[in-house]
Amino acid sequence: MIGIIILNISILISNITVNEIEKFDDKLPDIKTELLAPAKNMKAVKAAAKYSDAIYFGIKNFNMRERADNFELKDLMKVVNYCHDRNVKAVIASNILVYDHELDNLKMLLESAVACEVDSVIVHDLAALQMAKELGLPFHISTQCNVSNSISAKFYEDLGAERIIMARECSLEKIKKIKSNLTKAMIESFVHGAMCTAISGRCYFSAVICGDSANRGKCIQPCRRSWRVIDTENNEFIYDGVRFMNSRDLCMVHHIPEMIEAGIDCLKIEGRMRSPHYVDVVSGVYRDAIESYYDGTYSKKKASKWIKELRKVYNRGFTTGFYFKRPTESEHQHVSPTNLSHYRMIKMGKIKEYDPETKLATVLLTNGKVYKGLEIFITSSTTETYFKQEVFWALFDGKKVKETPKASPRKPIEIKLTMIDEVIPGEDKIYVFTNKTYKNRYLLKKKKDKIKKSDYYRL
Ligand code: SF4
Repeated sequence: MIGIIILNISILISNITVNEIEKFDDKLPDIKTELLAPAKNMKAVKAAAKYSDAIYFGIKNFNMRERADNFELKDLMKVVNYCHDRNVKAVIASNILVYDHELDNLKMLLESAVACEVDSVIVHDLAALQMAKELGLPFHISTQCNVSNSISAKFYEDLGAERIIMARECSLEKIKKIKSNLTKAMIESFVHGAMCTAISGRCYFSAVICGDSANRGKCIQPCRRSWRVIDTENNEFIYDGVRFMNSRDLCMVHHIPEMIEAGIDCLKIEGRMRSPHYVDVVSGVYRDAIESYYDGTYSKKKASKWIKELRKVYNRGFTTGFYFKRPTESEHQHVSPTNLSHYRMIKMGKIKEYDPETKLATVLLTNGKVYKGLEIFITSSTTETYFKQEVFWALFDGKKVKETPKASPRKPIEIKLTMIDEVIPGEDKIYVFTNKTYKNRYLLKKKKDKIKKSDYYRL
């Protein structure tokens, strides 16, 4: 059997010219399809670095998410070093339209990117493309450029693009075709996250409504709101749902094999406005899905489990976007403009003291109890700490316990916990990700109890 296979391979090789083999090798820059995750701050970088091959982030004033935290130029070296120390690529998003008075700043940003050894930059404006090219900085063509056909893709490839991010409006069939016509450039495509109702890069809705343009990274998302459309003769455009332009979020976790087999080199998660915890969960799920594909264990059962996990974090309901068919009204989220998940990060207490030698932290527990197997998150809005860990035991009253008594703001208790990473006393807090308090809220409502806002968050 082995002999037959070897014979067949050698016949096949003898029929292919050396040039063709080189060309074929050129088309396979990576063995595996990469996972690219978003980060709006250092905490999200830490969350993403555990699972992704590359992280993309914006620097203030030069990216499509001006309303996100974004990094300062002075943070660039720190972010790149953090990524590179973990074998993760660092990608800057600089994909807004640029005006003349901003060219000097743009140049400074790209020069800093080169100096800090950023791996690549995502560009939209041809000025950014040209500058990156002159500086020898690999550039990726933003989805804002709407690359939707082979000639456009080839055009950018010939300009030297390392990668082309497909327009969100491309089907998998179209992507396959585009990929087959490229010789060097890689293809990247969105796998999860928010979708626009308009063609990406061509929406002026926000600009017209309030002067803040989506193409300058300042979209106020008017498409998410409920609208009544009435013409000058008072005829109302009736649609099945008041939020008729509010797209559901893209979710392709149940189609990872099709995406990889379409020749997509990199699967991109949208979400530079999202929390570190969102990035953590979504990139973790997609890492599992990609690995499962390559080790042959990908299954529908696993995909259903992943979707359950993805539903727990921010989502507007899911759609497969344009990958298989043109979206219809059922791909819109008519009911809610925002998060459908009832899961939230609930604060349990804060770190009072920390001993870096023993890694023991003294925690003032003010909400709920800590027990063996509980997954807790340690983070804060004022520090760069972000990590999660499982509780194995706690020290309460000088004794090791598997479960602590229940604490409340009126009856706080002090416990000690071993931390798997550094924490900052007085700043960092302990959270749990749960929907439990929301259940409490509904129960209370039924009983017509008077409830305070703080009661929503009581465990
Ligand atoms: S208004 Fe809606 S469709 Fe237009 S860019 Fe903003 S999010 Fe996208």
